[in-house]
Amino acid sequence: MGADPVLRQIAVKTRRSDELIDLTAEINREIQSAGIRTGLCHLSVLHTTAALIVNEAEPGLCEDFLATMTRLVPVDPSYAHPDGNGHAHIKAALLGSSQTLQIRDGVLHLGTWQSVFLVEFDGPRERHIAVCLIPA
Ligand code: ZN
Repeated sequence: MGADPVLRQIAVKTRRSDELIDLTAEINREIQSAGIRTGLCHLSVLHTTAALIVNEAEPGLCEDFLATMTRLVPVDPSYAHPDGNGHAHIKAALLGSSQTLQIRDGVLHLGTWQSVFLVEFDGPRERHIAVCLIPA
């Protein structure tokens, strides 16, 4: 029988309406402090207008990504949702609210160009990400 899961929560203050924030280093710090060498890391963003993705941390690409999401789901006053942020809910739902990644050698097992991002679509806000680390 393996060890119990380690449950943590990360808080992030976003600064813009739309923004990508690289969480990789902070998640690796949580894995390190939990002392887990091998296992799974499940991440869940606890909001309806933010998402989690895995992609490349290149500034031009981050800009392209956010601009493309806005072209796909424009800010449009005709959404029925009364908060004025219908576009943000739809963009977040298209990308998804969770990621499950492997832990190997005490860090997230990612490809050379992969990072884990929080994607803000309705900032600035404080965002919370639930982290569940499952030792193998
Ligand atoms: Zn809303």
